[in-house]
Formats: sequence, C-alpha cells, structure tokens
Amino acid sequence: MSFKEDSERRKSSHHTDLYVSIPETCLPIVYHPNYNITFMGLEKLHPFDAGKWGKVIHFLKEEQFIHDGNIVKAREASEEDLLVVHSKRYLSRLKWSAVVASITEIPPVLFLPNTLVQRKVLRPLRTQTGGTIMAGKLAVDRGWAINVGGGFHHCSSDKGGGFCAYADITLAIKFLFERVEGISRATIIDLDAHQGNGHERDFLDDHRVFIMDMYNRHIYPGDSYAKRAIKRKVELDWGTEDSEYLVKVELHCEGALNEVRPDVVVYNAGTDILDGDPLGGLSISPQGIVKRDEIVFRAARRRGIPILMVTSGGYQKTTAQIIADSILNLKSQGLIGAEAEEGEGSSSLETHPLHGSGPAGSTTTTV
Ligand SMILES: [Zn+2]
Repeated sequence: MSFKEDSERRKSSHHTDLYVSIPETCLPIVYHPNYNITFMGLEKLHPFDAGKWGKVIHFLKEEQFIHDGNIVKAREASEEDLLVVHSKRYLSRLKWSAVVASITEIPPVLFLPNTLVQRKVLRPLRTQTGGTIMAGKLAVDRGWAINVGGGFHHCSSDKGGGFCAYADITLAIKFLFERVEGISRATIIDLDAHQGNGHERDFLDDHRVFIMDMYNRHIYPGDSYAKRAIKRKVELDWGTEDSEYLVKVELHCEGALNEVRPDVVVYNAGTDILDGDPLGGLSISPQGIVKRDEIVFRAARRRGIPILMVTSGGYQKTTAQIIADSILNLKSQGLIGAEAEEGEGSSSLETHPLHGSGPAGSTTTTV
C-alpha cells in the first residue's frame, strides 16, 4: 500500500461500531430480531414475507446448527456509517414518508409519521445493512460469513428502489477497501432474479470491483445504464429451469473467478428465482437453489477466497425453509461450519483482544 493510499484510508475512516471483535466461539452468521418488519399488519400489504429472516434462524435452531449464543448479533448502521456511500441529500430524503413509501413499495407508509417509518421500516433495513458490513469483515476473518438479511441491490448511493433503501453491498465493500489491509479487489456474484443495478451504478467506473450478474432479462429494473458495469452478464428468459440454470451458474462462477482473482466475493443469493415467485419469473426448484449456493461457495472456498453471502429477494412462504436448508447443506458439504474455518480465510486484519459475550455494555453481542 502506498503512502497516499494509507493517508487517504485514515482520512476517510470514521469511528464505527460495526467492526467490533467477535469471539471465536461464534459462527460468522449475522442476524438480529430487528431485521423483521412488523407493524399492525402493514407488512402484509407488500408481496413479501417480511418475517422471513427470523424464520430462517428458527429453522437453523431447530436443526441445532445454531443457538442464541453462537451467532453474531447485527448492529444498526449509523448515519456516519451510511455516509461512507450515501449522500447527505439522499439520507435526508428518507425523512419524507412519501419517499420511503415509494422505495419500499408499501403505499400506506405515505400516511405514517416519519418517526414511525424510521422505527418500523427503516431501522430494520439499517440493522440488516449493519449486518452486511459486519459480515464483510467476518468473511475476511473466517473465510466465510452469512448475513441472514441484506442484499439490497437496487439501492445506489443516491437512489433507492425495489424495497432497497440502503446500499449494503456497496457499503460492505467500501468498508473493506478502506479499513482492511490487503483487500483491494472484490467480485460481486449477483444471482437474485433481478438485475443488481444499485451496486452496478456505484461501481460503474471502479475497476477494483468485478460484477457478475445473472437475472431475468424481462423484469425490473432493466437498467441499461447500470448494465455497463457488469463484466459477466448472463440474461435469462421467462421460466428458466434447473438444468439450464445450474450449468450457467457453474460455468460463469468458475469463469468469473478464473478471469479475476478477488480478495473477497460478495454473493447476493436472492431466492426469488424460485418457481412460483410473483416477481422473479424463473422456475428454479428448492433443490436447484440449494445446489446453486453450493456451487458458488465451492468456487470461492476451493480458491481460498473469502465469501460473504446475503439473502436478498425472495419472499414466498417456503423461502425461509429453503434458505435454511441451503445453509445446512453448505455445512454438510464442509463448506461452512466450525470445522470449515480451520486453515481458511487467512486474514491480514489487526488482531484485537477478544471480549466475552457478557452482559450489556460488552463490545461484543450475540443472539
Ligand atoms: Zn430480486
């Protein structure tokens, strides 16, 4: 790293609570009960299971992969954290309920006082955003990490949309670039059914970031300006099924990682590719989704590249179970889990003294 880069890094780094030390006893799975959006049934007006994140955790607990003490509790991203990517102007616009109603596509939000909108809608999204940033550091530390939420890939620094109010993927990558020595190249593998125009706009002219995006070419957002940022673009047609889909996932993941070797992979693992999804328009089976995640993790892990997974879109009733099944499959394949961490993900991060998961006030928290 040059002196110039070093001084720029220090100049741009504010104090953050999102890069706290996490005990080794915790799995790098990040979650907080505040992820879930519940407010007088309002959440039911959106074609979303707005409680899917909690259900994923419930299923993982049932299978005894995790418990309250061995996962990482997400923290809410602060305004200063958000300003690493977002403009002050954009964050101010979120103080208007009408703007939030339009971004989240929940029209009645328009009629709520903004204090409620902040607490009931934006705080969950800010907590998920903090979770993605935390998981970015954990991925580098441990070789892998999963944020059970996040993946707001339609939001860029100055524009939200498609339920995405904060650009968590851009934020996680910029935090790593600014704060973690040795992390200067990232690859985004975006396999949500929609084009990831948010991070694409943010990294349009940034050669440090390689973007692979595979999506239904006929649906939202169809952002041709943002498409210029995609280095490996795979456009799918209505009703694409497992056999074609999985061949393409493998071919292009391997191809992307052979083309450029990044220091970290951010995997946007949207499940709206599932057959029957009202928005995605693809016909992938639950088993296909499980296999897809396995292919991506294997491609990164085999090369020793840290991988951060976020769950992004996909809100059918069965979605949470499929995400949990996929995480359990990654474990049974030896791609994640306590054993998978040994000898993996060598980190150039500074070492910090570990804190126990003690009472309130401890710098480390676990669910
Ligand atoms: Zn989507």
